[in-house]
Amino acid sequence: DLKQFIQRDETCWKIPAKGAMRVPAIIYADASLLQAMDQKVHEQICNVAALPGIVEAAYAMPDAHWGYGFPIGGVGAFDADQGGVISAGGVGFDISCGVRTLHTGLTMNDLQGVKKDLADELYRSVPAGVGSRGLIHLNHDEMRAMLTGGAQWAVDQGFGEARDLEFTEERGRVDGAEPRDVSPRARERQKDEMGTLGSGNHYLEVQRVVEIFDQEVAEAYRLKLDAIVISIHCGSRGLGHQIGTEFLKDMALAASQYHITLPDRELACAPLNSPLGKRYLGAMRAGINCALANRQIITHLTRQAMNEIFPGISIDLLYDVSHNTCKEERHIVAGSAQTVFVHRKGATRAFGPGHADLPTEYQSVGQPVLIGGSMGTSSYILCGTKQAEQRSFSSACHGAGRAMSRRQATKQWHGRALVDQLAEQGILIRSPSLRGVAEEAPAAYKDVSAVVDSADKAGLAKKVARLEPVICIKG
Ligand code: 5GP
Ligand code: MN
Ligand code: MN
Repeated sequence: DLKQFIQRDETCWKIPAKGAMRVPAIIYADASLLQAMDQKVHEQICNVAALPGIVEAAYAMPDAHWGYGFPIGGVGAFDADQGGVISAGGVGFDISCGVRTLHTGLTMNDLQGVKKDLADELYRSVPAGVGSRGLIHLNHDEMRAMLTGGAQWAVDQGFGEARDLEFTEERGRVDGAEPRDVSPRARERQKDEMGTLGSGNHYLEVQRVVEIFDQEVAEAYRLKLDAIVISIHCGSRGLGHQIGTEFLKDMALAASQYHITLPDRELACAPLNSPLGKRYLGAMRAGINCALANRQIITHLTRQAMNEIFPGISIDLLYDVSHNTCKEERHIVAGSAQTVFVHRKGATRAFGPGHADLPTEYQSVGQPVLIGGSMGTSSYILCGTKQAEQRSFSSACHGAGRAMSRRQATKQWHGRALVDQLAEQGILIRSPSLRGVAEEAPAAYKDVSAVVDSADKAGLAKKVARLEPVICIKG
């Protein structure tokens, strides 16, 4: 039902506040993406707009699809002093899931004759799949140190280099993590899972830069045509999932106590200033540190594997950014600077040029925005813009977004056939689960190029480079 939208420009669609909505809902997408978008996304983003303390508007990114409570690709900012809430469903189960991209200094030519060995070596080195376990086993004190220290802890333990932290969101560690708010069950689930990819759409992908859209920014990011990079997509594993599950339940039970009328039970939340809200913040931030540490350890394993095939190779971090978080940030609200808590669920933080949190090297061009497509199509690197500050609390899309459910995908494709087909195109897949591969069929996702073009046109982020997959280790 597109009649409810007011079209503001080619890629901006507004649903004015009505009924219980406190602010408008805004979807960024071109007309055909909007039309193809799950009707449920429209409903969900309007429900988010009805939550207490939300400011400006609730936003959906061009890759948005149906999610638990919040759509995946949903952004909402809340003012703690106006009764603003925090929602476990607004962060997502995989707390701080994100993407990290590494420079290898190689070009396609260097992979001649070693592609298969490299695929096998990476697959051997980085544990993938449901309940995959790593080589690290954390005791109680180490768990605590990891949950407060994040990637900084990992580097201190010898996993990677101090320089990596310069190129990691939050320099690898968020303040305010409270290990005591993380349940014993959540810690238990995590103690053998550090340095593992997990299952489903998580991946480690060797990619080739095939197109440059913005030469100046590409230079700042040290990206060149034909260069080989490696992208790692994963999050906080069992720990994040357990935190999400427990707090969703607690928040659903507490809603009436806080006199919150939920437009949808799945939008369970708690006031930011309440004990439950604060406990979730403490646990979620520990989850963020867990994800940052996890991607840091995987980086170390990747370096080891790369060194087996290319002795002496040096691997640098381009950037690491999360897309499932709630962050306390300064933004302009109704014309004045204010502190708000920005939920980004399946949405990438996208700070523009000049933002104080960016590494010096990227100050003049803005933050790298790392976007996955699928194991058979393009992925993209974009950069943050000034406009996005006003348009989406500095947020952009995070992927292509699913076009169909996992179940539907397994009915249409077979894992083995897909692996063979991709191999014919020169893309090597390694995965412990053929069913997982079928669920992740490239055509189960939206057209990533259309999604990224919409984000670019809407000014959420600007296209810098297009990548194509060479090797994909799938969870
Ligand atoms: P999510 O964070 O929602 O789980 O997934 C983020 C995005 O990653 C998806 O929307 C999809 O476009 C992308 N993606 C999923 N699998 C792959 C893959 O194997 N390779 C690449 N490059 N992207 C993927
Ligand atoms: Mn994830
Ligand atoms: Mn993710």
